[in-house]
Amino acid sequence: MTEQRTSLERRSFETFGLRPEILRAVAEKNYTTPTPIQEKAIPFVLEGKDLLGCAQTGTGKTAAFALPILHRLQEKPWTGRGRRPIRVLVLTPTRELASQIAESFGAYGRHTGLRHAIVFGGVSQHSQAQALKQGIDILVATPGRLLDLMSQGLVHLKTVETFVLDEADRMLDMGFIHDIRRIIGQLPGKRQTLFFSATMPGEIRGLADSILRDPVRIAVTPVATPAGAVAQRVHFVEKPEKIDLLKHLLGDRSVKNALVFTRTKHGADKVTKQLERHNVRAEAIHGNKSQNAREKALGNFKRGRTRVLVATDIAARGIDIVDLSHVINFDLPNEPESYVHRIGRTGRAGASGIALSFCSHEERPFLADIERLIRKHLPVAEGHPFRSGRNPGPPTDLDPRRAHVVPVLSMTRAGESFRPGRMDAFPGRSDGRPGRSRRESKPGAGSGGGKQGNREAERRHAR
Ligand code: AMP
Repeated sequence: MTEQRTSLERRSFETFGLRPEILRAVAEKNYTTPTPIQEKAIPFVLEGKDLLGCAQTGTGKTAAFALPILHRLQEKPWTGRGRRPIRVLVLTPTRELASQIAESFGAYGRHTGLRHAIVFGGVSQHSQAQALKQGIDILVATPGRLLDLMSQGLVHLKTVETFVLDEADRMLDMGFIHDIRRIIGQLPGKRQTLFFSATMPGEIRGLADSILRDPVRIAVTPVATPAGAVAQRVHFVEKPEKIDLLKHLLGDRSVKNALVFTRTKHGADKVTKQLERHNVRAEAIHGNKSQNAREKALGNFKRGRTRVLVATDIAARGIDIVDLSHVINFDLPNEPESYVHRIGRTGRAGASGIALSFCSHEERPFLADIERLIRKHLPVAEGHPFRSGRNPGPPTDLDPRRAHVVPVLSMTRAGESFRPGRMDAFPGRSDGRPGRSRRESKPGAGSGGGKQGNREAERRHAR
């Protein structure tokens, strides 16, 4: 305890040696303590090192790269004549992220005199081209529009000193990989590269390996919802019956709105179609949908025009829905951390929410992984197993206000108390947890009987 307090006391933005004009802007933002990723990353970025950061939006990642980048630009100001060259390029998948990042550079750099611009598609390029012509130090861009402007000779990247690739996994999911490689091909070989991705599948690691030089690796656990509480339950239901169970649950008016997660894009479309046929207003968002389609679907959901949003993990990342009553895991995620991200979407800002998980026979190992991560058994929902074509029994109480709330925050890993934003070095097992390997966690491996089955029986008995 004492040790913890001491280490917290030591943290402050002053200790990084950032320039006073940047510290002033940080103070104006009312940031007093660096977030874990800032604490880990800022010293290395200041040194000019390459970085591989496993972190998602919401962890304070933007300031983790923007503050030291601004510092470095100020330390070595450009003194040439004529138009300012682009010294920093930030590539990010969506216009919302681009806007947020540009805004952050504006806020943190407000006393520096440095200039930034933002380019993204879907709008006229005129004002973007004008800004570029005036000369800027920092460019925040989405890949498609940047390539357009490059092909027109409006952007030259040979002067870039620091390149930031943000949300690399989402870029890949959105099919940007070739665009990214083309853009990187135009950057000088000698540069600093900061690479961020919330997940690190093989393809992302491959890309990272090909563009980073001796990177510092940092991983940060996403900050869980501190204020809210989520009641969690599991429904044991076989795959063909999941859609009937979902329709049945949605028949309850306490389900004001629901974010439904499927493992695949195809699954999201299929569930959406089946709900629509059942007269439930539903839309899907996933990587195969255009930016406009996703924004529209999200807008409709937020405004209450649709009641159900069906999403894949990556598409749902970063979206913030205030007032979400239910999260339904139609498929269990194969990465247990995704479960925590998913259920953190409800129960925000002190409200209570309900997270329901459908678990088929093949998904039992995933459930075991989740329960190991959160260190508790998910209570089994009442009125189950659900059987289509039969009376499903008394409905589960789906009113979040009456729900038996289990706090989300008692997460642990390897026997430690869960602390939001905790970081560990990787690679290796990215979660550092002991026990079953990913390969072993595939559905079907050891599912059903044995210990798992016994534990199931114990659970039911305990009820
Ligand atoms: P990001 O992950 O960069 O999108 O940041 C998430 C949110 O955290 C943004 O609203 C930031 O303004 C805020 N934030 C970033 N760093 C800090 C900090 N050290 N203290 C308080 N808030 C912060």
